[in-house]
Amino acid sequence: MTDPLEGVDEVPVLVAGGGLVGLSTAMFLAQHGVASLAVEPLRGGSPLPRAALFHMRTQELFRAAGIEDEIRRQSLKEFEPEGAIVMVETLAARDVVGIIPSLNEGVDALSPCRRLFITQPGLEPILRARAERAGARVLEGTTVVGLGAVALAGEQHRAHFAIVTPPTVHQVDGDARAPRMPYS
Ligand SMILES: Cc1cc2nc3c(=O)[nH]c(=O)nc-3n(C[C@H](O)[C@H](O)[C@H](O)COP(=O)(O)OP(=O)(O)OC[C@H]3O[C@@H](n4cnc5c(N)ncnc54)[C@H](O)[C@@H]3O)c2cc1C
Repeated sequence: MTDPLEGVDEVPVLVAGGGLVGLSTAMFLAQHGVASLAVEPLRGGSPLPRAALFHMRTQELFRAAGIEDEIRRQSLKEFEPEGAIVMVETLAARDVVGIIPSLNEGVDALSPCRRLFITQPGLEPILRARAERAGARVLEGTTVVGLGAVALAGEQHRAHFAIVTPPTVHQVDGDARAPRMPYS
């Protein structure tokens, strides 16, 4: 069996989590010439749509990364462009309390970029491909279990990383959970 960790036994930055933030981190680091290894337990990413609305500043950063057009094309496959936003008090409410008729009302004066909707399963492969083109490595099926150690999920395999000290660890394994490993 090919060792998926071959050639990645030393990294300046270990990114724990290959979701939206982890892949963006790896992509932007790579563009600044900083190598990283993003480690993600899921193979092929999560199929759940989750985050959807992306604002102009995010698009400006994606434009600088050269992926704005690709993201816009994917967005058009998934959503109506310039969609409206309907506001209600609760999901069960009958009355609409407000409506923004166009997602991009008034933004032209502020930015060359426009807001758009795109799902995480639509966006993450674009971020990952760009990160890898820029030199980042993404390791799937792998869980960070501690600083300096990576265990391959589902395989009888443990590998230890010689991380350049002092290590820089970006914990981007979701925002709603307490850290589950001793980073400090
Ligand atoms: C049901 C739901 C609906 C949502 N709807 C919206 C919405 O409409 N709009 C919006 O803006 N946001 C929405 N969100 C929030 C949005 O999904 C998050 O803000 C976004 O995913 C955060 O990105 P992230 O990369 O930090 O986390 P995630 O996308 O959760 O990625 C974290 C990654 O870390 C990995 N991981 C976990 N532990 C480890 C470990 N030990 N080692 C390595 N990797 C690990 C996980 O497998 C995961 O892939 C929603 C979230 C949920 C759950």
